[in-house]
Amino acid sequence: MSADQQNQQQEFNRQYGGGMGGGNPFENMFNGKQNYEEDVKGFWEDLEDMFSGAKKSDSKRGKDISTQIEISFMEAIDGCQKTVVYERNSVCSTCNGSKAKPGTGQTKCSTCSGSGKVFYRQGFMTIGMECNGCNGSGNVIKNPCTSCNGKGFNNNKASEEINVPKGVNDGVKLRVAKKGHYSQNGQSGDLFINVKVRSHPYFKREEFDIHTENPITISQAVLGAKIKIKTLTGETLITVDSGTKDGDTKKLLNYGVPKLNSNNQRGHHYVKFKIVIPNKLNDKQKALFEELSKLEENVNK
Ligand SMILES: [Zn+2]
Ligand SMILES: [Zn+2]
Repeated sequence: MSADQQNQQQEFNRQYGGGMGGGNPFENMFNGKQNYEEDVKGFWEDLEDMFSGAKKSDSKRGKDISTQIEISFMEAIDGCQKTVVYERNSVCSTCNGSKAKPGTGQTKCSTCSGSGKVFYRQGFMTIGMECNGCNGSGNVIKNPCTSCNGKGFNNNKASEEINVPKGVNDGVKLRVAKKGHYSQNGQSGDLFINVKVRSHPYFKREEFDIHTENPITISQAVLGAKIKIKTLTGETLITVDSGTKDGDTKKLLNYGVPKLNSNNQRGHHYVKFKIVIPNKLNDKQKALFEELSKLEENVNK
C-alpha cells in the first residue's frame, strides 16, 4: 500500500467505524486484530496447547477468508452491488454440526468418563491434559455423519451480495463480519474483499480529485472560449480564459470523487489545457496565418 492508500484507508476506517451492520467493513491490516479479549483468550489457548501438546483448533474462532473483486472506474465512483462467490467451510446441513449421523447421538467418552480431561501425576504435580479419546469434548461419536465425515462442516460455494460504497479507491479492503470459515465452538471468521479498481482512459484519480487533459485550439487559447468537457457527472460547459497557455489548469470545485459517508462532499476536477497545433492547414487558414504573422510583434528582440 502506498502512503496515499494508507491515508485513504484510515479515512474510511474513521468514517465507517461502527457503521454498516455493527462491524467496521474496512479493516486496516496495520491495526491488527480489533478485539483485545479475543487476543488474550487466544494467547492462553496457545499456552495451553503448548503445555498439553494437543491441538485445540476447534475451540477457536473460524479462519478469515480473503478474496478479491475487480470493478470499473465508474463503478468505484458511483458505488455498485457485486456478488462475491467463494469457498467457505459452513456448518453441515445433515447433522447441523453435531458430527453424528442424524438419529444417533454422542456417547460419554470412556477414557475421561466425560470430563474431557485426563490427569497425570508427575512428582509433586498433577498435570491436567485434554483427553485424546474425545479431544476434550467429553463425548465420542459412534456413528459419524456421512455427509461431512464427522467433521461437522463442509466446504461449500458461498455467495455474498456486497454493497461497494461510492468513492472507493483501488486497494481498499471491505470486511463482512462472520462470513469466513465456520467454527464449531467459536464464531465464524470474517470475509475480506480486496477491491481492485480498473483505470480509466480519460479520468485520472488522485485521492478524491480528478485530473483530465483537455485539448483547445490556438484561437481558443488566444481569444478565450467556452468548451464542453466530460466530468464524472456528465458534460459541462467551462470557460477558457483568453491568453491561456499550454498546460494551464482550471479547477472545477466539487466535480471530483464523492467522499464516503459525507453529505455530498466531493473532491475537485482539475482540467489541464493542451493547445493543439494544427499540422495541416487549408488554403484559407494558411492565408489567415500568413496575414496574422505580418501583424505579430517580434518576440525575438
Ligand atoms: Zn454432518
Ligand atoms: Zn475423553
